Amino acid sequence: MKKKGFNTTNLHSDRKDSPEHGVLHKPVHTSVAYGYEDARHLAEVFQGKREGYNYGRQLNPTVTALQKRISKMENSLASVAFSTGMGAISSTLLSLLRSGDHIVSSSFLFGNTNSLFNTLQRLGIEVSFVDATDVCNVEDAIKENTKLIFVETIANPVTQVADLQKIGQLCKLKGLVYMVDNTMTSPHLFQPRNVNASLIVNSLTKYIGVHGNALGVVVTDSGLYDWSTFKNILEIYRSEDPKFWGITQIKKKGLRDLGATLGPEAAHHLAVGSETLQLRMDKASANALALAKFCDNHPKVQNTYYPGLAKHPEHGRASQLFKAYGAIFSIDLIDSLDCFDVLNRMECVISSSNLGDTRTLGIPVAHTIYFEMGAKRRNSMGISDSMIRFSIGIEETEDLIADFEQSLSQ
Ligand SMILES: *Cc1c(COP(=O)(O)O)cnc(C)c1O
Repeated sequence: MKKKGFNTTNLHSDRKDSPEHGVLHKPVHTSVAYGYEDARHLAEVFQGKREGYNYGRQLNPTVTALQKRISKMENSLASVAFSTGMGAISSTLLSLLRSGDHIVSSSFLFGNTNSLFNTLQRLGIEVSFVDATDVCNVEDAIKENTKLIFVETIANPVTQVADLQKIGQLCKLKGLVYMVDNTMTSPHLFQPRNVNASLIVNSLTKYIGVHGNALGVVVTDSGLYDWSTFKNILEIYRSEDPKFWGITQIKKKGLRDLGATLGPEAAHHLAVGSETLQLRMDKASANALALAKFCDNHPKVQNTYYPGLAKHPEHGRASQLFKAYGAIFSIDLIDSLDCFDVLNRMECVISSSNLGDTRTLGIPVAHTIYFEMGAKRRNSMGISDSMIRFSIGIEETEDLIADFEQSLSQ
């Protein structure tokens, strides 16, 4: 039979896995421990010879169901969930890399990932930051000890789109792990597996879970990387099919050593939220496109950054790769306008640091999320003092446009 669509597959995901009592949602399993009639079975679970649960830090049935959902959404091999994005990215990199290894990263990064990469450098893992909108910059930065390339699909807040396809080809050629943060696009707009990504990050806190009521992030192995060539896999994880070596080491070492485990209640919220991903993402992206065009034509706005605008440097690439251009855009105001006043006058836009909510949110980025990194690094990322980043929700388009109009025109 023909492979089912994105929505159908996701909506029926829990049910297809023979859940308890035929329930349609995987229940919230709160038990931390699991009992075994035969102590040998417990030992076999520990040794990976038998499927089963041992302890809540490593595994939980509600979380496992969510991981399966995300693996299906990404058309990929397997996933591991973490309590936050920073837990996910730090656990993945610390379980796969060693002191003396080198990463090439896009310099246009989520602020906290940037902060983590600075910490990694203090621990002896080298990081080169490059403009990843052009594969040549990535290629030039590769060294003998390079193990991994890290990029985001659409960067925050200036919306640069990495040279996703060509970097994927380069990683394949050089045998490098290609880690793609797909948070801004979500697996509905873009599946990084199609550009040869090895590991995919999705912050479910954002578009997938969406309601701003739970934190959680999943790392997915696309199944494309040949882990038998990756020297840092520990001997103990080399017994099964090499396809699973990477994700097993991330799961076993990452969750054990750093303990950023996703809780079952959060997993349940995120799974339910995910059911409407496609509808919301289409609506929010359409709203963002309409508002970005409105701002681009408004005399009080100096610059509008959105991949859906024809003038955006990577508009062609975004059109080719993504189903829509996402729901984040940023503006620079003209000098006479104050970013705080503009936000305060808006009625439908909440001043808030989250993104990917059902509601429209706005934030003066230089004074908040990018404050700590300093003016020099902000400047290199193209972040001006008057910049406002908007995360567009699913309100009626005309209400949002009217709100922007009244606030900007005063
Ligand atoms: C929010 C976000 C994350 C996850 O961060 P947490 O807040 O730690 O969950 C990761 N990447 C991007 C691009 C994000 O926007």
